[in-house]
Amino acid sequence: MDFKSRIRTVPDFPKPGISFKDITTLLKDREAFHAAIEALASHFEPMGVDMVTGPEARGYIFASAMAYRLNAGFVPIRKPGKLPYKTRGISYQLEYGEDRLEVHEDAFEPGQKVLVVDDLLATGGTIRATIDLVESLGARVVGVAFLIELTELGGRKRLQDHEVFSLIQF
Ligand code: 5GP
Repeated sequence: MDFKSRIRTVPDFPKPGISFKDITTLLKDREAFHAAIEALASHFEPMGVDMVTGPEARGYIFASAMAYRLNAGFVPIRKPGKLPYKTRGISYQLEYGEDRLEVHEDAFEPGQKVLVVDDLLATGGTIRATIDLVESLGARVVGVAFLIELTELGGRKRLQDHEVFSLIQF
């Protein structure tokens, strides 16, 4: 399957100078969406994944489909103030400013094997924070999956302590 040809590059979105990788063109292609979930999930299946997690919002599309395929649970990681119960949070640096992610403090059992999923790896800041948050609750991150990896930004270097797999590289 040629996954790369299903990704649309949109110039100057969301700001001038940024080339945005649009995943909606892959999602609406039923064969490509199915094959992408299958390829990502089967890569991590031998690890015996208990739980799949990822940051909102595009990450959820892949994380929840992979959780279903792997017979695992799904844990949402959200922007501040969205989760109803007690939360644990982590702040992280963006190019300009700071962002924060939160998870329910009882989302994981100690030692649970967790697969972290997002749609795209750029600098790695988002997923580094996600991993640190999951591990701060005592769970074990057994892998990190992306549909797309922007290789020139070197995000993978920040995830060196984990098994990282991406389906499409730009
Ligand atoms: P990072 O934290 O690795 O620098 O940025 C990755 C995060 O930003 C991901 O959560 C991803 O959804 C979002 N992101 C950044 N650039 C793009 C892009 O070109 N396309 C998509 N679909 N998401 C992007």
